[in-house]
Amino acid sequence: MESKHLEDTQKHLEDWLRDAHAMEKQAEKMLKAQASRLEHYPQVQQRIEQHITETQNQSQKLEQCLTLLGSDSSTFKDMGAQLAAFGQAVGGMMAEDEVVKGSIASFAFEQFEIANYKALVKTAEMASQPEIAQLCKEILQEEIAMADWLSEHLDETTQAFLERSADSDLRSKT
Ligand code: MG
Ligand code: FE
Repeated sequence: MESKHLEDTQKHLEDWLRDAHAMEKQAEKMLKAQASRLEHYPQVQQRIEQHITETQNQSQKLEQCLTLLGSDSSTFKDMGAQLAAFGQAVGGMMAEDEVVKGSIASFAFEQFEIANYKALVKTAEMASQPEIAQLCKEILQEEIAMADWLSEHLDETTQAFLERSADSDLRSKT
């Protein structure tokens, strides 16, 4: 690639790594809010807690990517506003059906992350940054695994919710 093009691609890579970092910070907030309300759904809670740890590591990997680019990784942007819709769907859940709504919103959020990392892998490759591409691929695999888990367990989670709901309805009528 021509050096002007390479420079431009690296600039985009840096910007998008910073966006991804903000995305992970938002993800961490949402996952924590969700995990705290899932005591009746231990399997879902456990998987979310695992993903909180993964998410924290992902933020660190992104900081590592920025360091590899020679970019300052001590200051980050807050993308709260841009991701507020997801935040409301997941973090603000107070309704009784939150486990179902939360699973749906989390699945959508994971798809958003997957698309972001796919674009980052491609950008890192085009910017001649194979180590960054590798780190982003590792993160991508974790996002795919989380999305798959949520999708595979949605039937079970929905059924468990509906059964609990019917049970408590019955109890309140006797
Ligand atoms: Mg993530
Ligand atoms: Fe994720």
